Amino acid sequence: MSRFKDRMLEGKEFIITCEFVPGRGYKGRGVEEVIGFGKKAVSSDLPIHAVSITDNPGGNPAITPDVLAKELQAMGLEALVHFASSDSNRNMIESRAYALAREGIENLLVVSGDYPTSGYKGMAKPIFDMDSVQLIRYLEDMNEGLEIPGRKKKTFEKLPKTDFFVGCVVSPFKRTEAELMTQFFKLEKKVSAGADFIIPQLGYNIRKFAEILKYMKYRNIYLPILGNVYVINRAVARVMNKGHIPGCVVTDELLKRIEEEAKAPDKGKGARLERATHLAAIFRGLHFNGIHIGGFGLKFEDFEYIIKRSEEIAKDWRVYIPEFCYGNKDEYYYFPDDPKLTFTLDKLVPVKLSEKTVKSFDLKMGKLFHRLVFTKGALGYRAATRIWQRRKRRKSEEIRSYFFEKQIKKLLYDCQECGDCALFDLAYLCPMSNCAKFQRNGPCGGSRNGVCEANEEKNCVWTLVYDRLSSIGNLDDLRKEYIPPVNWSLSDTSSWANFFLGRDHTSKKLKVVARVVAEAEIGRERMNRILVTDDNPVFVNSVRSVFENKSYRVATTDSMIGALEKVRREKPNAIILGTLKPRGSAFELHNRLKDEPEFRDIHILVLDAFPQNRLQKGWSMQEGLMLETEDYIPQTVEPEFLLERVENLQRC
Ligand code: SF4
Repeated sequence: MSRFKDRMLEGKEFIITCEFVPGRGYKGRGVEEVIGFGKKAVSSDLPIHAVSITDNPGGNPAITPDVLAKELQAMGLEALVHFASSDSNRNMIESRAYALAREGIENLLVVSGDYPTSGYKGMAKPIFDMDSVQLIRYLEDMNEGLEIPGRKKKTFEKLPKTDFFVGCVVSPFKRTEAELMTQFFKLEKKVSAGADFIIPQLGYNIRKFAEILKYMKYRNIYLPILGNVYVINRAVARVMNKGHIPGCVVTDELLKRIEEEAKAPDKGKGARLERATHLAAIFRGLHFNGIHIGGFGLKFEDFEYIIKRSEEIAKDWRVYIPEFCYGNKDEYYYFPDDPKLTFTLDKLVPVKLSEKTVKSFDLKMGKLFHRLVFTKGALGYRAATRIWQRRKRRKSEEIRSYFFEKQIKKLLYDCQECGDCALFDLAYLCPMSNCAKFQRNGPCGGSRNGVCEANEEKNCVWTLVYDRLSSIGNLDDLRKEYIPPVNWSLSDTSSWANFFLGRDHTSKKLKVVARVVAEAEIGRERMNRILVTDDNPVFVNSVRSVFENKSYRVATTDSMIGALEKVRREKPNAIILGTLKPRGSAFELHNRLKDEPEFRDIHILVLDAFPQNRLQKGWSMQEGLMLETEDYIPQTVEPEFLLERVENLQRC
């Protein structure tokens, strides 16, 4: 396990990552800065847990962070490699991920990636084959052992497991309700997909940073989070103020202040470093798990100053809060104002979301059509299924009806004929024609005042989706419904046929089964899921193999945070609850799960395999017996015995 991951999951140390943007070319200033920093960092006692390296930022080509990560690793430093989905298709993503795993580089920060703005002989082609939620899930599947088709028909085999530690980003610096809420909802999808930690976008409005913590508390997200400390100079502030760096907000007021500071003999360097120490001190005071420091042209000594000074002044962190109030006047907030950042209970209750009304012909048509034809059991559905089953055998009929379908969908939805239709998911707005990055699980972080990052003429489609889903009372879909990447083998084919014949993602989600492959996939989704928590890897592995042999999907963890996240993500039917890190937390985990309606029904089988160690575990026999568990096993057990017990519980 990497030191970065280990420390982050333990939650005892304040984590520090330092970010670099190496730029274009294989050598030169940007690359030398990273390597020079690495050399100084390994010979110092400064607590730097990882060096974060960006991946084609701003939509410009740059040297891949992977090679620099390897060089840093050879020096004895860990890297946090940014992994953008903008410039590679899924096969290239997989190649890159396994190459990184092979090199032992496991800390990844998954981002959507900026829309390409330049490239060799003109702008590069935007790829965006996967969005960040899909990419996180892909990496999580690799961690579980990627399932690929086996040599024999209808069989599957597993590739060796990776051990990626995957971070995700969230951008709270959004002006409107729709922009902010879709960011929060997408964060939930990222967490469910397998994200292990969070780094917010850079910003200078502390209320927005605090809102992420409040949202996490409100939605029971227990992941570690690092505060973003960006040391901003005048040149960068001007560019950000104009909105030229997607997702980065510098208000006029802040720019004015930075312009003033730049008149000093040191060109404002002292003031901007001081601002960074104050922001870092606030993050320490707010109990963020650490800080992520970045800034153009920063030297090792600058990082050192920020880290040490912020530690010195951390006890007075509240004094600095008024320095970070750079929000727009009409900015939307989800939680009540809390100027002193007290986090008292009344400040943790969100405001009521507005109820939108959307009057749109295509939305009405879509809903009507959905009710009559695409709803299982509806008259139209039964008829259409029969028709499509018949047409499957007559190619000419299928082609004729596809022509008819194309005209309607083009007219109503500007359909791009991907064949794996997401109109249901986006309240009848097509992501292929309305989103420059083809995002299917929520917005990228680049919108500004509701306008698309890549096209200033258009609103971000996700703000429209938000309004539509709000108007039909389906907002929850935005946080719950995972939409897989487009299956390109369906491109230029009838999405109606693909639905009724069980080929597309919607039919699989709605269990419209027509093909063996769909059945097999749904079958796997329905598999019994079990979570095994224990700090004894030998025991965990033997339990895993016994359950997997019986076709269970098994998730494992040895930490409290890991357990909470896997429960959220995997939704296990049962948990075998053994010893967790930190010791004693198994008791707490049990009570937390039983307190939450969503998890209350999970069968919990408490495993106390080493009674003599009970006191060390901080978990007394009395506590064990008081638990509302279905089963309590006070002795060393064989995994087969556990299987029998779990199966008994599930029959009850
Ligand atoms: S429509 Fe929204 S999600 Fe798509 S590229 Fe534009 S800003 Fe990003």
